[in-house]
Amino acid sequence: MALTGKARKGAFHKADGLAGRLLAWYDAHHRDLPWRVPPSALAKGVRPDPYHVWLSEIMLQQTTVEAVKPYFRKFLDKWPEVTDLAAAEPEDVMKAWAGLGYYSRARNLKKCADLVAALPGSRFPNDETGLRELPGIGAYTAAAIAAIAFGRKAVVIDGNVERVMSRLFEIRTPLPDSKPEIRALLGELVPDERSGDFAQAMMDLGATVCTPKRPRCMLCPVREDCRAVLAGDPELLPVRGEKADKPRRRGAAYVAVRSDGAILLRTRPEKGLLGGMSEVPTTGWTARIDGETSVKSAPFPADWRRAGSISHVFTHFELELDVYRAEVKGATALAGHWWSPIAAIHDEALPTVMKKVIESAIPGATKRRH
Ligand code: SF4
Repeated sequence: MALTGKARKGAFHKADGLAGRLLAWYDAHHRDLPWRVPPSALAKGVRPDPYHVWLSEIMLQQTTVEAVKPYFRKFLDKWPEVTDLAAAEPEDVMKAWAGLGYYSRARNLKKCADLVAALPGSRFPNDETGLRELPGIGAYTAAAIAAIAFGRKAVVIDGNVERVMSRLFEIRTPLPDSKPEIRALLGELVPDERSGDFAQAMMDLGATVCTPKRPRCMLCPVREDCRAVLAGDPELLPVRGEKADKPRRRGAAYVAVRSDGAILLRTRPEKGLLGGMSEVPTTGWTARIDGETSVKSAPFPADWRRAGSISHVFTHFELELDVYRAEVKGATALAGHWWSPIAAIHDEALPTVMKKVIESAIPGATKRRH
């Protein structure tokens, strides 16, 4: 049976116990990750390096833990401090990032390092509000850095945490409608002490025990608190609304138009979705709204104006792209890009989603025959 409001209130009273059990489990079973300070070291006074936490969180935004590990080490070898990264040539950062994908993250990484290096003491802001001012840092990333690097009592929710919370509290309201409830409940659980470890413990629990399929409830440290186990159907949670059957991703696309009408294009990476096809510059297509979907992430400075938005359904996700357009007078040259004459646009290898983008900025462009 789903929790009533009163029962949930009772659950709050157990929060300390639940958080305590989770933290005790984390102490013994946490994942060893190169960017992490383990609980034993924290207890001896070792503090997480905000640069390490930030770097890892940016890399992890659209990439798996295993894929990120070698890149994280490589970046720290090359640029041990945020000031080193700020002093690096942008091309070198892009080269070091090559293969991690979603290159707007690398550009924002560099911009963010430049800004932080210029702050007093070259120190990162130590709260969510200050962190969100920085390029590439949205709500989730700011909360994660604030909690992990600075011990702030922040509510850190990613997909893993949504799943764990939906099961713990037997939330049958479909996602995404249940997000406010999940946030409120998690806010009650976050302990005053060790909030960074608590956030990482929730992530680890979701990644290693409370997995989407076949959760390992027998090994779960919060089993006695878990309403879904009592109900006998944890694997059926979280419920996803019809619209949420496909995950939704977001991004921004930038249609640069030269004075002769030519449009700036580039080729997508050979591997991956729409590999090798042509596109206008876009941000990464991310499940998180992380500050990468605005004009701030445009490929170069120009008078970018919002031209509309498009949506497109892929096999595994729905994509929403905000479209920006700018008139470009000079011959802006970007490596790997080319100017495609408007008369030749329909001959380009443009996938449907990119035709929609260009149509949104220049109605009729992809249909013209000259
Ligand atoms: Fe997830 Fe099972 Fe633990 Fe509940 S008991 S939180 S369903 S692993």
